Amino acid sequence: MIDAYELGVIGDPIEHSLSPSIHHQFGQQTNIELAYKTYHVKKQELENFIQAFFNNDGHGLNVTLPHKLECLHFADIVSKEADEIGAANTLWVNDQKKIVAETTDGYGFIHDCDLKNIQIENKNILITGAGGAAQSIIPAIAQKKPKNLIITNRTKEKIIPILDKFAAYSLCSLEDFDKEIDLFINATSAGHLNSFAWDERNDLLTSNTVFYDLSYGRSARAFLKWSFQFSRNSFDGTGMLISQAAHSFNHWFKIMPNINKINI
Ligand code: NDP
Repeated sequence: MIDAYELGVIGDPIEHSLSPSIHHQFGQQTNIELAYKTYHVKKQELENFIQAFFNNDGHGLNVTLPHKLECLHFADIVSKEADEIGAANTLWVNDQKKIVAETTDGYGFIHDCDLKNIQIENKNILITGAGGAAQSIIPAIAQKKPKNLIITNRTKEKIIPILDKFAAYSLCSLEDFDKEIDLFINATSAGHLNSFAWDERNDLLTSNTVFYDLSYGRSARAFLKWSFQFSRNSFDGTGMLISQAAHSFNHWFKIMPNINKINI
């Protein structure tokens, strides 16, 4: 009998991750026997953990906060997308026993927008937030050719290196923009403290604006409530979470699971 494929997610903290539930459902759906566990890994343990996991026949890992950037140092091969963003959320070992690092957050976001019929091409897209999640979706959005891609953040200085890093994508700051926003993306972690406030340019938001929070569940409630003053076209990041997981699963097993059948 073949042992279950060993999978897991590493982070600090990690206890509340929904990834085990999602991947076990993917496994049932595709008849792949897998054991997907959460691993509480501290920064100083990261290298040893990754090496030991794959040396002991581990099949694949997801990586979450705060290790998405650091894990690149312990991969032998970094995908073009992960290298550009400077972060990865999916690791596996290839046929040559090399550890590969990939990011699936951008794919997950775009895939979910496609499913929800959220238009990006030729639209004005605003991202608020300048952390890892914001940066991980910028290249994927830019590839869909928005009319304008605008970024803003509570701490304004953090935008400058991001404008520089993604200069090829004609990203601009909110100070340089004065038109209606078609898609407003919340990539802040404010919702984890059950709050969201944004009043930088409310005049650019209308009943046609679509609102999307990368946070999900309870953490998205404050943003969704805030967005309802403008429109009811509001979504949380549950769909992105499931889609990015599906893309990770596809890297590990070369099978794209059905994301419509997931209960979380
Ligand atoms: P980071 O810690 O890297 O960045 C946090 C960002 O939020 C910073 O820009 C920070 O601004 C801003 N911020 C924090 N608190 C506030 C506040 N009270 N008001 C305004 N801005 C605030 O986090 P990530 O980028 O990794 O994650 C952001 C969110 O995206 C999280 O909620 C995470 O759960 C979600 N996410 C969802 C995914 C999905 O699949 N759906 C995937 C990845 C992330 P400042 O620079 O001023 O500190």
